[in-house]
Amino acid sequence: MTADGRTPVATGGCQCGAVRYAFYAPLENAHVCHCRMCQRATGGVFAALAGGQPENFAWTRGTPGYYASSSLAKRAFCATCGTPLSFKYDTPAARMYTTIGSLDEPDRVELVKQYGIESRLSWVKFCEAVPEERTAESAQAQEFLAGMQIHQSRG
Ligand SMILES: [Zn+2]
Ligand SMILES: [Zn+2]
Repeated sequence: MTADGRTPVATGGCQCGAVRYAFYAPLENAHVCHCRMCQRATGGVFAALAGGQPENFAWTRGTPGYYASSSLAKRAFCATCGTPLSFKYDTPAARMYTTIGSLDEPDRVELVKQYGIESRLSWVKFCEAVPEERTAESAQAQEFLAGMQIHQSRG
């Protein structure tokens, strides 16, 4: 239990232990994102993320570094060891997502979605029964992403 009396439902942190976090409600919308931005941000071949409402999340040790990978979102990482820790769109109601691999018990998460499948590598074959969605597939997503300025280097 933390100082404000809340009991974590899920906890996690970086590989060196300098940054720790907690969720105080069950994790939602666990997904992988195959988009090029998530590949670049994690250095992996997809990002695996699970999240919750911002009020149900707290950093519980240390302070992460942040990189605004675009004009719409920030990604947190440990400034000491480099572990990718989170992704959040800047809108207030957007879920706070943390990397599934940084959770203390990643196997408790059940994957419900795959995003960014337009960039999925041809040899990445897993969870083939998990529903798929392309980036900006819906009109709502197209409108949200229309003004996005990407800050990542493209090589
Ligand atoms: Zn660290
Ligand atoms: Zn992505």
